[in-house]
Amino acid sequence: MKILVINAGSSSLKYQLIDMENESVLAKGLCERIGIEGSKLNHTPQGGEKVVIAKDMKDHSDAIRMVLDALTDKNHGVIASMDEISAVGHRVVHGGEIFNKSVVINDEVKAAVEKCIPLAPLHNPANLIGIAACEKAMPGVPQVGVFDTAFHQTMPQAAYMYALPYDLYDKYKIRKYGFHGTSHKYVAQEAAKMLGKKQEDIKIITCHLGNGSSITAVDGGKSVDTSMGFTPLAGVCMGTRSGDIDPAIVKFIADQEGKSLEDVDKILNKESGVFGISGVSSDFRDLEAAQNNGCEKSKLALDMFAYSVKKYVGTYMATLGNVDAIIFTAGIGENTAIMRKAILDNMEGFGVEVDDAKNEKAIRGAQMDISVDGSKVRILVIPTNEELMIAKETLELVK
Ligand code: ADP
Repeated sequence: MKILVINAGSSSLKYQLIDMENESVLAKGLCERIGIEGSKLNHTPQGGEKVVIAKDMKDHSDAIRMVLDALTDKNHGVIASMDEISAVGHRVVHGGEIFNKSVVINDEVKAAVEKCIPLAPLHNPANLIGIAACEKAMPGVPQVGVFDTAFHQTMPQAAYMYALPYDLYDKYKIRKYGFHGTSHKYVAQEAAKMLGKKQEDIKIITCHLGNGSSITAVDGGKSVDTSMGFTPLAGVCMGTRSGDIDPAIVKFIADQEGKSLEDVDKILNKESGVFGISGVSSDFRDLEAAQNNGCEKSKLALDMFAYSVKKYVGTYMATLGNVDAIIFTAGIGENTAIMRKAILDNMEGFGVEVDDAKNEKAIRGAQMDISVDGSKVRILVIPTNEELMIAKETLELVK
């Protein structure tokens, strides 16, 4: 069975066609600048070279048509006809409190996703446009929605509520939702396999460290707490996002700098994090290079990142009581031995012991146990694969 995975943004659309027989990626690509001059499709067939097709895409329907054309093209296509696509799995960012698992999309589901737009004003509308475009191009092919927030719907109320007047929760559903759920769920499943145990029998902490970062406490396969909140601004320090700060700082900056709330929101989302501290970059490769050249602020930014992740790991050790494994995933988690070491430094007392040689040897794309043989808590590097997880959930619902 072949499943098309779609991740639609406001002016972009990423896709992967996955053959579920062997979970291999037949083709993947990206439509850029949809509705903007200079739109193009980057398409890479399995084992082939990337092709770039520059053509006007006035909307997401045009983009989907181009994707289907590329997938069935005589030269760089990978299927004979689009009838070979059994189902489409869509990444949907926000499912609010309505969706605690993936669902087959129908009118009711679309209306519910629309209801969640105030919670994700940039993402959910784009996701809905992607769904509509696929329905139009592939009538009768089942479409499935996989939500970034769904995995975290198992958090207990004491973990997801904010200590604000309760009626604000009643009126606007202001609470912690958490994000990156598809990634946390995927690596949690893989961790159980690596440990040779059932998910129900283990307690783990998953650290998704990428452009955006979040840490999750997973008890028996269920998310019981996560570091992101009502929005993906909360939690650890990130590339350009502040993570947790004293909320009173918002008004203070607005007053002192004569800025609007929108301006302050932009500072917290786009001009803060390791970028804001270092003034150098949001990319950890640049920061490590700058630090090696003596840039004190880059060093401070990296130290702050490591410390903010460490604090959540410690908090979730207390939440879970007993931890079987700590998982590192995504761009930073999979690639930076120095960062993994810094985060877990000085935690031997908790049974967390990194094997420096194994840690240095971990290579991107491979699963690896980087803890010393006797470490009570296993430390695992597990490459994330959100597209495969979306395809698996889609298959589960349509087979
Ligand atoms: P996203 O969160 O957008 O999916 P990724 O998970 O790919 O992104 O993470 C991107 C981040 O990972 C980059 O900003 C970069 O800081 C970091 N990264 C990627 N490769 C490396 C590397 N080899 N060394 C250090 N950091 C890396």
